[in-house]
Amino acid sequence: MVILMEKNTPEVNVERVIEYLDKAGYDVHRSTGVEHILLGVIGDTARLDIRTMQLMDGVADAYRITAPYKLVSREFKSDDTIFKIGDVTFGGDETVVMAGPCSIESEDQIMRIAEKVARAGARVLRGGAFKPRTSPYSFQGMGEEGLKYMRAAADKFGLLMITEVMDKDQIELVEEYTDIIQVGARNMQNFTFIRALGKARKPVFLKRGISATYKEWLMAAEYILSGGNRNVIFCERGIRTFESYTRNTMDIGAIPVIQKLSHLPVFADPSHGIGLRDKVLPMARAAVAAGAHGLMIEVHDDPDHAFSDGAQSLYPEQFEELMSQIRVIAEVIGRKVAEPVAV
Ligand code: PEP
Ligand code: MN
Repeated sequence: MVILMEKNTPEVNVERVIEYLDKAGYDVHRSTGVEHILLGVIGDTARLDIRTMQLMDGVADAYRITAPYKLVSREFKSDDTIFKIGDVTFGGDETVVMAGPCSIESEDQIMRIAEKVARAGARVLRGGAFKPRTSPYSFQGMGEEGLKYMRAAADKFGLLMITEVMDKDQIELVEEYTDIIQVGARNMQNFTFIRALGKARKPVFLKRGISATYKEWLMAAEYILSGGNRNVIFCERGIRTFESYTRNTMDIGAIPVIQKLSHLPVFADPSHGIGLRDKVLPMARAAVAAGAHGLMIEVHDDPDHAFSDGAQSLYPEQFEELMSQIRVIAEVIGRKVAEPVAV
């Protein structure tokens, strides 16, 4: 249930409603919007009388959310969730580009690539230190050593950092280094893990599961929000279909659908979405045109020798071209992509 407080109602009224709900055994999520204070009531609200709530002092309205995902839904919060990390705005009118290698391979490699992507206008450095690999014999990532190199590279070139956490036991360690926690597609429904992310201190980048429906994806985000972490970004990264020519089938339709159903930012990852280097640029254009709040792109300066995902990694020059093309497209829909910078 959502309780909408009257505009400018005294704080004492808000506190009285919270206390009432607390005593009745509900969790209350308070969110302060531009105009109103909203209280999200979590628990079995079927036994809560709407009329009683509507009649309390300072309450403008009380209504039930029909969607199974509550805090994530537009019914709960009609305006877009916009948040800042450093000077980068997520979910607003900036199209934020995250770029970097699939895996951190050495100090030198992440430094070289960070410089290239920063120059082209990327705002966030991506790279994996803990890698979810299909084979246990493939490179599994550099672990904490990789995180150190990546943090240093991000700081040197004025970038934020995003990296994958694979397990709930890794959250604390990775949080020491990263600005954003990436949840990989294979982990979207690892419920003990995503529940723990509700208590994480950093925003969560929630990739769509390989065969997840929109509802399952939204419910995964609900796990994180209901634990108290409000900063979740969705990322469409392609799904498994009957087509095997491409690595995955990029679902561009997910972008406007999720934006309609949820107030949270929606990104797209055309690198994993299509898996073929020469198709990444057209899919990136399509995602930006469809309204994505940002992109995640794999870039490598020696993709033939990359430890993972070389075939879908762009050369730095191709990444520059991608940035200049999406700058034009973003403008058409009232968004902006950061300009190239001298670093
Ligand atoms: C990645 O970003 O390198 C990755 C493993 O992504 P996904 O979880 O989408 O496969
Ligand atoms: Mn990858």
